[in-house]
Amino acid sequence: MKVFAVTDQCAGCGACIKTCPEKAIRPAPRGYPSPLMVLEGRCTGCAECAEVCPVAACVEIVVLERE
Ligand code: SF4
Ligand code: SF4
Repeated sequence: MKVFAVTDQCAGCGACIKTCPEKAIRPAPRGYPSPLMVLEGRCTGCAECAEVCPVAACVEIVVLERE
């Protein structure tokens, strides 16, 4: 399964949060390695967040399916 994640390169502009049609991108809890987190259960892999990110911080990752 392919979903997107936000890396620590994130500049905090908020564009991806507004763009995501699934509302899958949320501010991350304290201690999380990047400022934002993507809810994997919602992300459809549409890549719209990656298209709007000015610093290429939205990246595609592969998540192993849980049994
Ligand atoms: S790939 Fe699409 S659904 Fe997933 S976080 Fe980015 S904009 Fe949202
Ligand atoms: S669009 Fe990129 S820089 Fe802006 S908040 Fe999202 S991940 Fe961070």
